[in-house]
Amino acid sequence: MPQKTRETPMMEQYLEYKKQYPDAFLLYRVGDFYEMFYDDAVKGSQILELTLTARNKKAGENIPMCGVPHRAIEGYIDTLVDKGYKVAVCDQLENPADAEGKMVKRGVTRVVTPGTIMDKSDQSKDNNYITAITSRKNTFGLAYADLSTGEVKVTTVENQLDLTNELQNLDTKETVVSGSFPQKYLERLRKYGILISKLDELEDNYSFDFSQVQSDDEVSTVKLLISYLIKTQMRSLDHLKAAQSYETSSYLLMDHSAQSNLELFKNIRTNKKSGTLLWLLDETKTAMGSRLLKQWLARPLISVEKLKRRQHFVQVFLDNYFQRSSFQDYLTKVYDLERLAGRVAYGTVNGRDLIQLKTSLEQIPEIKSILLDIGDDELTHFVEQIDEVADIRDLIEKAIVEEAPISVTGGGLIKEGYNDQLDKYLDASKNGKQWLASLKAKEQEMTGINNLKIGYNKVFGYYIEVSRANIDKVPEDRYQRKQTLVNAERYITPELKDKESLILEAEEKSKSLEYHLFDEIRKQIKDQIRRIQGLANIVSQLDVLQSFAVISEEYHYVAPEFIKEHELQITNGRHPVVEKVLSNNSYIPNDVNFDDKTDILLITGPNMSGKSTYMRQMALIVIMAQIGCFVPADSAKMPIFDHIFTRIGAADDLISGDSTFMVEMREANDALKNATPNSLIIFDEIGRGTATYDGMALAQAIIEYIDRHVKAMTLFSTHYHELTELEAQLPGLRNVHVDASEENGDLVFLHKVLPGPADKSYGIHVAKLAGLPTDVLNRASKILSSLEETSVHTTTSDSIKEPTVLTTEKEPVQATAVQSKEETAEPEVNDDTQLSLFPETPKQ
Ligand code: ADP
Repeated sequence: MPQKTRETPMMEQYLEYKKQYPDAFLLYRVGDFYEMFYDDAVKGSQILELTLTARNKKAGENIPMCGVPHRAIEGYIDTLVDKGYKVAVCDQLENPADAEGKMVKRGVTRVVTPGTIMDKSDQSKDNNYITAITSRKNTFGLAYADLSTGEVKVTTVENQLDLTNELQNLDTKETVVSGSFPQKYLERLRKYGILISKLDELEDNYSFDFSQVQSDDEVSTVKLLISYLIKTQMRSLDHLKAAQSYETSSYLLMDHSAQSNLELFKNIRTNKKSGTLLWLLDETKTAMGSRLLKQWLARPLISVEKLKRRQHFVQVFLDNYFQRSSFQDYLTKVYDLERLAGRVAYGTVNGRDLIQLKTSLEQIPEIKSILLDIGDDELTHFVEQIDEVADIRDLIEKAIVEEAPISVTGGGLIKEGYNDQLDKYLDASKNGKQWLASLKAKEQEMTGINNLKIGYNKVFGYYIEVSRANIDKVPEDRYQRKQTLVNAERYITPELKDKESLILEAEEKSKSLEYHLFDEIRKQIKDQIRRIQGLANIVSQLDVLQSFAVISEEYHYVAPEFIKEHELQITNGRHPVVEKVLSNNSYIPNDVNFDDKTDILLITGPNMSGKSTYMRQMALIVIMAQIGCFVPADSAKMPIFDHIFTRIGAADDLISGDSTFMVEMREANDALKNATPNSLIIFDEIGRGTATYDGMALAQAIIEYIDRHVKAMTLFSTHYHELTELEAQLPGLRNVHVDASEENGDLVFLHKVLPGPADKSYGIHVAKLAGLPTDVLNRASKILSSLEETSVHTTTSDSIKEPTVLTTEKEPVQATAVQSKEETAEPEVNDDTQLSLFPETPKQ
């Protein structure tokens, strides 16, 4: 920023504030505008499409400047924050008229950032998480909060890969770091579009509950986050709940790539919710239920006890249809209690919000009695914990009018009978209005002007209006002319003005008293925020559980049974989303069986036959089971999984700039390194990103490694038919294939998974389906026959002359691809840009 020797006093003041917020757009109030100067103006004018001008050009200052009208500021702030920028709003703190020639007092009244912006839509189903990260010798602390719901959590992660994963899973837009945070870790986060906010000075003047935080390191991570929130929000944060430590390993782990490959929250093609598991499962009736469902899906459980409890509630809702549907009816009238509580604490709540809060609380006694009526012990016990927060409901009922206005300063908000003084003011203004009505009647009679009116405007106050035709009847001695219109004249009388000041004074006083009363009510509610949050917590859980029941009933899901053995049997399993999307029950169900000897199912079959669907189906069933939902199958028995690894699809990681093959190998490496016998691995055609022999060799080595060392349940699809011969060597591997048949030269997909390897790959048939020219197809068929005759395979790499026969070795695989765990003594690499194909000993 250009520094001149002498600025005008206003620019001096501006620069003073700008110095405090160097990383934000500073919107500086001048009269009816918010102005930006210097670089802010240049950049801001581009982003917001504003005209760039210059300040004091004549005086030689020539400072770049642009401005927005103060009334329209919210829209501009939203645009900037949406694009990932911060905005600091610098307001005039006194009326310029009172400044008496001195500089108007100004101050930054709020800082809006991507991680702290409050969603304006009342029923938003998404959380907006602001995060803070700290780095220790070997670990990272990660804290996050949702400012609108008050949730605060903190954890410790082992390395940068886990940190990036967790941040991506949280979908955070902004993360706070201290100035000493190692720069090298930040670049990658920036690439993922996360805004890095630096904060050096911690706040210490606040009270916050750290009792559920496990270590001092985590406490300091939360302190960093809270300090940032205090610094930017500049108002009460009383609704923030006690911070809670969590461990990622207390849940079924899924890396961000698994979450996105399995399309839990976002459809890969459209980037929307439609077509995802969340979309399928979300029959919740409240926004808080919907948010909780998303949280459950992001962190499935590993505790059988907790899962059985959820299953039990789902079963209860399934068994009691009538109570369930009337429960749903009441739920739909429950508003977003979490966000309403947030607004109460924040001071942004208005009369309508309080009416929503009251309406919500009014449903609770009904909900309680319906659920108690079911008579299930466990549910009864849960429901009995509900605090109806009846005192707050009654307070709002007594105080706030039903059709409350949006504004809290304009009156018309507090009910009659709530406050004596207010009633007196209201009476005075009401009486005044009656007096005006009788004055009108009296004047009409006295003057004989039947259409004489009494009106009010801001400039003249109350007046008597007489149409032009009747002007000659006006009593000139009593009426004083004030305004002339085209068709009428307006007058005042001393009597009218006397009464006017009484009426207006009463109105003025009543408005300010109403505002004062409203603020008191708000404070009373604020003191009870914890109770409202507790209620929200129970209601949202019940909402998700009824949603599970609705889905399970509609699609005939069953409760999975959790077993201790390393076995799995799913009978007639279905891919829940594909099943829903396919019309007229055309989904072909398939079994999945892992007996105690099997680790790997090697899946072959033509392209488009359903290999990938079959593998995803298995993963989704596991996830559904471990959030406590029923699953799409006739029966399901499974162990509890600790981690799901996936390598699906061929999308390049465009952000990191890595090639498909690099991403593929990175994900394979992650699985081989971290999977345990209790993990699930889904590898879809691994190795296809490189030359045939390379790919096949890697695929075989990976399979062998899993069979010998990892022993995780693995679904491995491949189009390398040679690999099916591995069944003879590896005791833990079984071949299955997806059936297809040929009818009159055309390929018919049967989508049925059968034992044994596929006999053909039908690539040319699929090409025919895709409509390739007949010449190409015929030529390909010819080439294929001659290749089959000579048994020579094509390869894209010239370096391989003779196809090595892929026999399996009995000895551990040598360093060509993977090394056994015992042989590696490499230290943990805390940098996920590094790829290592040499798995280390899994973490304990
Ligand atoms: P592959 O991985 O073998 O190339 P996909 O799993 O992508 O094949 O399946 C291709 C298409 O076949 C899917 O989009 C789906 O519409 C259909 N499909 C797959 N499995 C089934 C099934 N079990 N029942 C009915 N349709 C299926």
